[in-house]
Amino acid sequence: MSFKATLLTLYPEMFPGTLGYSLAGKAAEEGRWSCEAINLRKFGEGKHKKVDDTPTGGGAGLVMSAEPIAKAIDEHICPEDMRPKIMMSPRGKPLNQAKVRELAQGEGAIILCGRFEGIDQRVIDHYGFEEISIGDYVLSGGEPAALVLLDSVVRLLPEVMGSPDSEVSESFENGLLEYPQYTKPRQWRGKDVPEILLSGDHGAIEKWRHQQSLKLTKQRRPELHNKFLKS
Ligand code: SAH
Repeated sequence: MSFKATLLTLYPEMFPGTLGYSLAGKAAEEGRWSCEAINLRKFGEGKHKKVDDTPTGGGAGLVMSAEPIAKAIDEHICPEDMRPKIMMSPRGKPLNQAKVRELAQGEGAIILCGRFEGIDQRVIDHYGFEEISIGDYVLSGGEPAALVLLDSVVRLLPEVMGSPDSEVSESFENGLLEYPQYTKPRQWRGKDVPEILLSGDHGAIEKWRHQQSLKLTKQRRPELHNKFLKS
């Protein structure tokens, strides 16, 4: 079984985009995941394939209409498809590593990308799309948000990441930010790597890293630090 992402978008050419490179690109070549982008424009109405209209009740901009999205789903997604339906939305639940991990354990996702002022709420409710946000700021479209979501999921798929350990100590996996990382050379432009990392004492190194994690998290993300202390 490999993870399959189906994107519903007005800009299918944006996929796989950045996910065609590096870890995710290689993983796709190896068949560990795949992505299919369905062009909502094809399901637009009339000669001009209209997919949007003015907001009911007034206001600026345009809203994506329900019917082209419904037609795309009815034609491409079979009713037995159990993959979660996600709509990228600034009003959604903020994405976090727990959600990413949950998605990575599943069969894939059907992801609806908004444009303009958003999407007619009725189609979101009708198909039961779960709204997910990638942060408290507004993008011009759901496509870059979907790429962010998929990037975080794909790297957790089995055998995608180089070392199975590298995710364990990572930021957010244990509720803390990661400790600072160093590599060779031992001295760079007059700056030494922390002495302890050269000691070969794995216990002491682990302890130092944990202390660094705690310190960084306390300084930069006090709310995460408090949550960690309570747990
Ligand atoms: N008028 C809307 C914003 C529309 S932005 C509002 O104020 O809530 C257009 C589209 O970009 C959205 O439908 C959504 O799909 C996407 N988008 C924008 N910001 C996002 C975010 N922070 N997270 C996920 N998707 C986002």
